[in-house]
Amino acid sequence: MKKTIRDMDVSGKKVIVRCDFNVPLKDGVITDDIRITSALPTIRYLIENGAKVILMSHLGRPEGEANMKYTLKPVAERICELLNKEIIFISAPEVVNDQVKKAAEALQAGDVMLLENVRFRKEETKNGAEFSKELAKLADIFVNDAFGTAHRAHSSTAGVADYLPAVSGFLIEKEVQFLGNAVESPERPFVAIMGGAKVGDKILVIENLLKKVDTLIIGGGMAYTFFKAQGYEIGTSILDAGNIGLAAELLKKAEEAGVQLLLPIDVKAAKAFDNEAETAIFDKDKIPADWMGLDIGPKSMELFANAIKEAKTVIWNGPVGVFEMSNFAAGTIAVAKILAESDAVTIIGGGDSAAAVEQFGLADKMTHISTGGGASLEFLEGKVLPGIACLQDKN
Ligand code: ADP
Ligand code: MG
Repeated sequence: MKKTIRDMDVSGKKVIVRCDFNVPLKDGVITDDIRITSALPTIRYLIENGAKVILMSHLGRPEGEANMKYTLKPVAERICELLNKEIIFISAPEVVNDQVKKAAEALQAGDVMLLENVRFRKEETKNGAEFSKELAKLADIFVNDAFGTAHRAHSSTAGVADYLPAVSGFLIEKEVQFLGNAVESPERPFVAIMGGAKVGDKILVIENLLKKVDTLIIGGGMAYTFFKAQGYEIGTSILDAGNIGLAAELLKKAEEAGVQLLLPIDVKAAKAFDNEAETAIFDKDKIPADWMGLDIGPKSMELFANAIKEAKTVIWNGPVGVFEMSNFAAGTIAVAKILAESDAVTIIGGGDSAAAVEQFGLADKMTHISTGGGASLEFLEGKVLPGIACLQDKN
C-alpha cells in the first residue's frame, strides 16, 4: 500500500499536487470539467488541513513550448468558481520563475496556487532532473493525484519524488485500491470481460489476466481473431491477421491455466459497417462470407450473463460490440446491465467501456470506473506505473 495525504501532517506545509487537468477545450472554453471536479476532494482536504496548496498539470501537447493555446488559465478560472475562492495563477512561460517562487513562498495556510502547463517545459516529458528540482524546491511534500499520466515517468509525475516525500491523493488511492485489489487479491470467482476492436491492443492485458482470473470472457471485434484461430470463417468481420497465431496461443494458455475462456457463440452481423445496414443473427460457425459481426448475439448474452452472475469480482475492459451504433449496442448494454445488477465488485477500465456505461446511465451502479485509459491498461498488464512506484510505502 502507498501512503496517502491522510498519512502526512500537511498543516502549514507547502504541498505540490500533480493533478490531471487535461480537460477538453473548445475555443478556449472547457467543455467537460469532470477532471477538475474529480480533483476537488484532494484539494479541499489539503485546504481544510491547513496546507499551502500548489497545483500543477499538463494540458494538451504544447511540445515543450509556451504555446498559450494550452494555457491553464481557463482551468484556474474554473477551480476558482468550483472552490468559491480566489486562487493564484501565474502564467509563467517557464512554469517556475522568480515570480512563481516568491508567490509560493508567500502562501498562507489554505491558499491555493496553480502553476502553468508543465508541458511548456521541454524537460517535463523527458523527466529532466533540473525541472524536477525546480518543482520540488517550491514545496515540502509532493502529492500525485493524476492517475491518467501515472504510467509516464515525467518530471511532474515521478521525477519530483526524487527530491520530496511523496504520497498519493484520493484519486490515485482509489485507483490503486480497486484496480490493485481486484487484480492482486480478488474475491472469487473473478471474471474479466475483454472487448474492443483489436486483439493487438489488449494482448498483454489478456496474458496478465489469464494468470489471475477464473473466467475470461472475450467479446467485441477481438473475438473474430480468436474464431479464425479456431478455424472458423468470419466473413468480413474485423480481423487482426497478424495476431491469429497469438490468439491460438492464448487459447492454449487459458486451457493450461485452467481458466474458463468464453467466446461468443452467436453474433449479430450486418452487410456493411453501417447502422442502417441489413442485420441478422448467425451462430459463430455460420457467418456468411459477405457479412460482418458487429455485436454478440442473444445466446452469447445469456452465456456471458450466467458467468457474470456467479462472479464476486468483475473487470470489464472494452465494449463487446460497436455500441456507438444503436443497432449493435445490445450486447454491450446487456453486459452493462448485468454488472449494474451484480453484487460483485465491478470495475470498468477502458475509455470506451467507461463511455458506454456513462451513456447507458449505469455509471453510478459500478463499484469503480477507472479514469486511466492508458494507465489502467498498463495497470491491468501488471506493469509498475512510475507515478505510483515513486510514492512512499505504508509501513
Ligand atoms: P476501451 O476503450 O474500453 O479499452 P477499445 O478502445 O479497445 O475499448 O475498443 C472500443 C472499440 O471497439 C469501439 O469503438 C467499438 O466500436 C469497437 N468494436 C467493438 N466490437 C467491434 C466489432 N465487432 N467490430 C468492430 N469494432 C468493434
Ligand atoms: Mg478505447
